[in-house]
Amino acid sequence: MFPNLTVLAHPLIQHKLTKLRNRTTATRDFKALVNEISTLMAYEATADLPLEPTTVETPLETTAGMRVAGKKLALIPILRAGLGMVDGIVQLIPSARVGHIGLYRDHDTLEPVHYYFKIPGDEEDRLFFVLDPMLATGGSAVQAMSALKQVGARRIRFLCIVAAPEGIKRMLDHHPDVRVFAAALDRELSSSGYILPGLGDAGDRLFGTR
Ligand code: URA
Repeated sequence: MFPNLTVLAHPLIQHKLTKLRNRTTATRDFKALVNEISTLMAYEATADLPLEPTTVETPLETTAGMRVAGKKLALIPILRAGLGMVDGIVQLIPSARVGHIGLYRDHDTLEPVHYYFKIPGDEEDRLFFVLDPMLATGGSAVQAMSALKQVGARRIRFLCIVAAPEGIKRMLDHHPDVRVFAAALDRELSSSGYILPGLGDAGDRLFGTR
């Protein structure tokens, strides 16, 4: 239905996602599950990374090997909930660089505005993974992609745990070149901006606020 979207149907991801949705899942378990799902999602979302040949000395002889080609990957969590996805991915890709994008919604225009933007250099040659557990209206995600492109980023992927059709559509309209990876495509957005059935406010559940 959406050519920009890949839903990751791996059984472990789906099992953990169901636990994540459960309203009785406590903060500590919620955090652990977001970490685990992020690790599994990153494994899948990096399956097509280009390799280059190298050599390696085993204790016995020199042999041919492979390494991931190009600059170190960059993980860019959108503050605040995106932070919950970083550690799980860093466990898998310890050399990844980490940048941050902070956005808030202007009360008058309702448009996202940057309050923080710090990302690794060599933007033209780096693969960026932008992280936010919930792709709801897509306003922040679209804004984050635009900001990254403005400083030269050309290879960007977006990783979220739950996506709403409205958010995927908005990303497709504005950034059709950005592949979106999600653990689930949910039914719809509520009138108050929550994803249905969703999992509630990911930031609050991650950090124990409210
Ligand atoms: N952000 C969240 O944390 N949850 C939603 O359902 C929508 C946006």
